[in-house]
Amino acid sequence: MSQKKRVLLLTTGGTIASENSEAGLAPQLASEGILNYMSDLKDYYDIEARDILNLDSSNIQAEEWQTIARAVMQGIDEDYDGIVITHGTDTMAYTASMLSFMLQNLKKPVVITGSQMPIANMLTDARSNLYTAFAAVDCGIKGVSIAFDHKIINGCRAVKVRTMGFEAFESVNAPYLGEIYANGMHNYNNREAAEPTGETVLKDKLCTDVFLLKLIPSTNPEIFDMLMNMNYRGVVLETFGAGGMHYVRRNLLDKLKMLTEKGISVVACSQCLYETSDFSIYEVGKRLLDCGVIPGRDMTTEAVVTKLMWALGQTNDPDEIHKIFNTNFVGEISLNA
Ligand code: ASP
Repeated sequence: MSQKKRVLLLTTGGTIASENSEAGLAPQLASEGILNYMSDLKDYYDIEARDILNLDSSNIQAEEWQTIARAVMQGIDEDYDGIVITHGTDTMAYTASMLSFMLQNLKKPVVITGSQMPIANMLTDARSNLYTAFAAVDCGIKGVSIAFDHKIINGCRAVKVRTMGFEAFESVNAPYLGEIYANGMHNYNNREAAEPTGETVLKDKLCTDVFLLKLIPSTNPEIFDMLMNMNYRGVVLETFGAGGMHYVRRNLLDKLKMLTEKGISVVACSQCLYETSDFSIYEVGKRLLDCGVIPGRDMTTEAVVTKLMWALGQTNDPDEIHKIFNTNFVGEISLNA
């Protein structure tokens, strides 16, 4: 009989661990409580569990990402075959994306999962999501991913698209890394990035001075003065369509130029969920590139935001930030799209 895989389970809270309290649904269960609902998992895997947080994921921020990343790194050093993390779904895509950048050259499976309904509920999706996550470790789907609704999604390509439905996540601009069918797990082995070489290293310095602005027709350009006065070091812009913003009457472009000249890194992506932004198509987009704005291409907003927070944690040099955005680390960006 083949040896059981050693899996480290890290719990952080979320609906999966929630029970009704007087104040509403809130995380209560630790790993022991979760594993009580999954007793057969121990027949297949050698599981060690560590409760590192117990939060609704709306409360997960940069400090918690560091806590999670350090716990994962410890698990890598302890040579587990893979790590499963339970997490609330609301900010799971941000965490998955951030861990993808913080854990450089990751060669082991780090699979994040959760559920739309608490594990204690008979109709829950928690149990099948957990089985899926463990199966992803079992078949060696490397790097950070999200296991949900029988699918394995590259962590830096995941977006939460539903508040109630069990198919809560979509893989945006990238194929699934794996899927469960009646004949078992299919590992597509198709992460659109080079195989990691070299040691796995934890790069956990982050910069939280990053602002996300979704443009609306008539956005007041003075918002950028405010961001500058608040000492933001990075701005992510969700622009219109393939990539545009207004300069007639309310000239956003002049203000953007001011920002980049002051050394603030500005990355622009699209408000559209699917396909790539391309600022070279329209005049309104070309003008944006002339202002020194970095194109986010086909990245999700979650990936752009986390990559910028991570990049600004590594360097103060705006040219280096440009270079980081021109690098595809884990399949987060298609540079030839
Ligand atoms: N509010 C919960 C959370 O993100 C939602 C969930 O887990 O599905 O922690």
